[in-house]
Amino acid sequence: MATVDKRQTHLRENPFDLARRQLHKVAETFGIEDALISVLQECKKSIEVSIPTQMDDGTVHTFTGYRVTHNVARGPSKGGIRYHGDVTLDEVKALAMAMTWKCALMGLPFGGAKGGVACDPKRMSPGELERMTRRYTSEIVNEIGPEKDIPAPDVGTTPAVMAWIFDTYSMNQGHSVLGVVTGKPLAIGGSLGREEATGRGCVFCLQEALKRTDLSVEGARVAVQGFGNVGAVFARFVAELGATVVAVTDSAGGIFNAKGVDVAAALAHKRAGGSLAELKGGDRITNDELVLVDCDVLAPCALEQVITEANADDVRARIVVEGANAPTTPAADEILQENGVLILPDVLANAGGVVVSYFEWVQGLQEYFWKEAEVNQRLNEIVARAFAETWELHETRGVPMRMAAYGLGVQRVAEAATTRGLYP
Ligand code: NAD
Repeated sequence: MATVDKRQTHLRENPFDLARRQLHKVAETFGIEDALISVLQECKKSIEVSIPTQMDDGTVHTFTGYRVTHNVARGPSKGGIRYHGDVTLDEVKALAMAMTWKCALMGLPFGGAKGGVACDPKRMSPGELERMTRRYTSEIVNEIGPEKDIPAPDVGTTPAVMAWIFDTYSMNQGHSVLGVVTGKPLAIGGSLGREEATGRGCVFCLQEALKRTDLSVEGARVAVQGFGNVGAVFARFVAELGATVVAVTDSAGGIFNAKGVDVAAALAHKRAGGSLAELKGGDRITNDELVLVDCDVLAPCALEQVITEANADDVRARIVVEGANAPTTPAADEILQENGVLILPDVLANAGGVVVSYFEWVQGLQEYFWKEAEVNQRLNEIVARAFAETWELHETRGVPMRMAAYGLGVQRVAEAATTRGLYP
């Protein structure tokens, strides 16, 4: 198996190899023909761009960026842009492929894409970030567009970054193009509910799962890794519903308190620029320790490959909610299954973000904006329907939830590809 041999990164195994192996397992389970899989295992288009950027001290730094479209059989491609030091082409390809299955599972008229720039946004000034973002957008300006490929936020990117992408693309077109990117600030065509959508979708998914178990949200002990757009919102909502959030971490670690962490204090501390490891009211823990804490629900909401062969057997949670993309390696997945842990897989659990991105795109195209309650209700309906379909396949075929979710997604894309036929 190919391994990542560059510098020290959070990726222990090549993520695109893992994504392809997952696809082959789905093909075997559901009998999808080889010719089709030979198409679906590749990305339709991958581009690598260099992004020369003037830094505040007058020097020029050349960053490397990517934009990958995996598949467009069901519609224009959709997927976030990641700003992180570990970004590689194979990571972006793996994330793009997952977006294809996720959009299909949710029944959205989109294919999958992803983008990324290898950089450390925490060490860049707003001016440097803006110049880098505008140059990156210019380099991919012919690849994106409301009917073609629609970016959105991911790790390290924010509504402000989406605003610069929107503005740069619009300046090139000579008029505002609301549908080119989602996750925009409300003042320029963002959707109410988009910022909370991924965390809210994770909660809806967890609630659907809990209806089918003997647990309930009230009193459930929840551990959350990653306290950004996904993790912080998920922690806030489950705490509001009566769960006890026993542990939270960000990139520098965090705290554990069996009686409950003060989530409101953690949010205020993060907003003020602090890191969770400095937080009072609990024992300090590392990110590795968070995965193993005594809890009912473990929500990895940061990066890939945090539950691995090395630690899966020691996971004590009964339910894993994959707020992050690909936080569980395939080997870990098997161990968790054997131990009876219910996994709510990434393409189902964290799909709330792309669902409300779809709503934002629709609202932008129509220039008619919805009330927040309408956004949230429609999100709930779509997540609940996808959950029910996944659960049914899980039960009738006796396959794990991950296999059921990926199976539905891949089969829908396969059907679209077959129906359209091969061009020319
Ligand atoms: P974010 O940048 O808002 O937050 C990331 C969080 O993870 C931060 O708290 C950061 O400190 C923490 N983190 C970074 N490195 C870490 C490490 N090595 N160990 C532990 N924590 C670390 O990003 P986000 O948008 O919340 O995305 C988090 C995950 O959710 C990613 O896997 C992303 O692909 C996935 N996701 C995001 C969205 C979305 O709408 N933003 C949608 C679907 C899936």
